[in-house]
Amino acid sequence: MRKCNQCGIQLGWHDGQLSNIVQRPKTISELLCYPCYHEKRRLLDLVRFHNYRARKLGLIGTLTVEQWLAAQADFNGKCAYCQEDKGDVLEHFIPLRYGGGTVRGNIVPACDTCNRKKIGQHPSITKNIPQEDIERVRQYLMSFRKS
Ligand SMILES: [Zn+2]
Ligand SMILES: [Zn+2]
Repeated sequence: MRKCNQCGIQLGWHDGQLSNIVQRPKTISELLCYPCYHEKRRLLDLVRFHNYRARKLGLIGTLTVEQWLAAQADFNGKCAYCQEDKGDVLEHFIPLRYGGGTVRGNIVPACDTCNRKKIGQHPSITKNIPQEDIERVRQYLMSFRKS
């Protein structure tokens, strides 16, 4: 019996109907149900887009879906700055135009509001986000930087 790798739902026929469609394109080799496949696809597209943006500027873009999910999990799905709203936006702590790459040590989940407040601003000069929140996020990201 085949099950979705992600949610564990049984794949195939159910009550005489095809309940879940298994798709196995080259990029996603695991067995996934339809909703999980689309979620994975969405995450892959998100991460690839930001890696591409970084590389186009000659910066490092090596973020993986697993790393992005781990970052979101570290903040319990919330925004890294306000710690209240949902952290769905991939935020570059050091913006790309200041040379920050799309890497584990430079990305955090942010809510729409905080992302809009900080957008394009260097963390050391932004006045829209409390400096204590900036400092907390800086400390968090430091552990992923090797030097
Ligand atoms: Zn599933
Ligand atoms: Zn926020």
